[in-house]
Amino acid sequence: MRSFTYMAPDSVAAAVDVLRAAAPGTKILAGGTTLYDLMKLGIETPPAVIDVHGLSELDCIVVGPDELSFGAGARMADVADHPVVRAGYPALSESLWRAASQQLRNMATVGGNLLQRTRCAYFRGGQEFPCNKRDPGSGCAAIDGHDRGHALLGGSDTCIATYPGDWAIALLAFDAHVDVVGPGGERTVPLAALHVEPGADPTREHTLAPDELIVRIRVPATPAGRGSTYLKIRDRESYAFALASAAVALSVDEHGVVGECRIALGGVATRPWRATEAEQWLVGQRPTPDAARHAGEIAFAGARPGHYNGFRVELGIRTVADAVRIAGERVNR
Ligand code: SF4
Repeated sequence: MRSFTYMAPDSVAAAVDVLRAAAPGTKILAGGTTLYDLMKLGIETPPAVIDVHGLSELDCIVVGPDELSFGAGARMADVADHPVVRAGYPALSESLWRAASQQLRNMATVGGNLLQRTRCAYFRGGQEFPCNKRDPGSGCAAIDGHDRGHALLGGSDTCIATYPGDWAIALLAFDAHVDVVGPGGERTVPLAALHVEPGADPTREHTLAPDELIVRIRVPATPAGRGSTYLKIRDRESYAFALASAAVALSVDEHGVVGECRIALGGVATRPWRATEAEQWLVGQRPTPDAARHAGEIAFAGARPGHYNGFRVELGIRTVADAVRIAGERVNR
């Protein structure tokens, strides 16, 4: 690992001041569960690291009548285990519980988790593989390589890396917002506008400026939260990234017909992916197995499988269908 300057400001305001004056490439350190890995691999080589891990003003969970608010420094395990989150928004809780390991969830923060980088083995594997994300213009080893875990949706001719997170998928289903601060003050970014598809420039993964810091995540309150689930399918049942996942939240009226419907997909796209057309189709339907299956088929209608990842289209359809079924059962509890 290359040497770097370590700074630990004692407030958010001080962190913004430090960021303003920082050398290009300076990184913010939150839980440290991803950044240090990438630094050891030589993929991230920041000249300086600004540690916000100990800032108590970022470590908060506030439950109000209109929204839930999570400080960016709140630990994944604490948010996952919060009683209101567990009871009223099980998809949020499950997306955190099903990520990483307990040790990592105790360290990692809900703000840092949003910006985790892809697990593409070619990206992380070293200089022997061409990778447009790591070395722009070098090519993409995955497109004609081993693409079993790569994206079915949102890829480009330059990159098909999958967004690896779970928490952002559930937040997307709930129309969450992210508050960020920088030298220009505070602004709010819809979660749906935080991550970007690779397009022609896979190095750009999100819409935050290098000198902006996530300070909180806000989730609008909704009764559909109770009828929600985050279903994650993976090679093993713990400490593995999703082959396919779905966050689904439903409300159902007194006739058993879907009123509100939110579906977001994880593990299958280059960014957290909202299945809007599937949602629109399911509204007004009864959440029967056939209807749930059809919603899944709509969600994956635009999938572009490569050489080895085609099995995940059917897996994704079934994941959506099962998540709709589970959410429908929870609505009726
Ligand atoms: Fe690099 Fe993206 Fe290709 Fe992976 S999929 S090798 S991250 S360009």
